[in-house]
Amino acid sequence: MLRQVAEGVLIHESEFVQSNAVVVHGRAGVLLIDPGVLGDEMAALATDLRELGLPVVAGFSTHPHWDHVLWHAGLGAAPRYGTARCAAAARDEMSDEGWKARVAEGIPPDIAEQMSWDLFGLITGLPDGTARIPWDGPHVRIVEHQAHAPGHAALLIEERGVLVAGDMLSDVLIPMLDLDDTADPIEDYLAALRLLEGVADGVDVLVPGHGSVGGADQVRARIDQDRAYVHALSDARTPSDPRLGPSAYGKDFLPSVHARQLQGLAGRSERDGTPG
Ligand SMILES: [Zn+2]
Repeated sequence: MLRQVAEGVLIHESEFVQSNAVVVHGRAGVLLIDPGVLGDEMAALATDLRELGLPVVAGFSTHPHWDHVLWHAGLGAAPRYGTARCAAAARDEMSDEGWKARVAEGIPPDIAEQMSWDLFGLITGLPDGTARIPWDGPHVRIVEHQAHAPGHAALLIEERGVLVAGDMLSDVLIPMLDLDDTADPIEDYLAALRLLEGVADGVDVLVPGHGSVGGADQVRARIDQDRAYVHALSDARTPSDPRLGPSAYGKDFLPSVHARQLQGLAGRSERDGTPG
């Protein structure tokens, strides 16, 4: 069930939109990044790790969206880190009584039923500007940027040549911009892609939050593909992008996300009084 993608780095792929949980070997246990979606899957992952004698000593959520902030009691009580902005956004989201129903509205009902909600969103924010995940294992650099979600972070495990991209650089999902929390979502997204491009040298393995693991050549290819998509969005065009094609994930799902993004951006420029 766990698949090694680099020395000391394993992934577990969820049924839900090819979500990748990432396990990194440290000295006294493992770091678990974006643990998974379905309760049963996380329980099985916990059992696998226990049988391998690998306690979870730290967790990390790349961003505060529901499919990245879940946990299972069987994984233990290690600190679950995220950027300060990620933790704050999760806290805000859960700050009133109606939060669960509100979050569930955005989740396919059959998936929401199979989730374990008990430990949802309990993220420990790392102080702003924290360069590395505090744990006893290979250095994991935090590459925070303003795209997709507040406090979104990619993680670079330099010694292993692995880039964990969170919800950037996916081969199945188009870039989904954060239209609510930022003044210039297009420019923010392009800046984030430039930031990832800046760390791309030396990356041999790219692990997106959803989709297939890529090799060295995929890092720049996916950066280019995402950039082309964002440029098209900025020009209010529909690009020819395989992720929007007839054989793409969920058929109508991504075209409808694309339409929503076009609409959302059009609404913004009207409000700003700027053309295009
Ligand atoms: Zn996601």
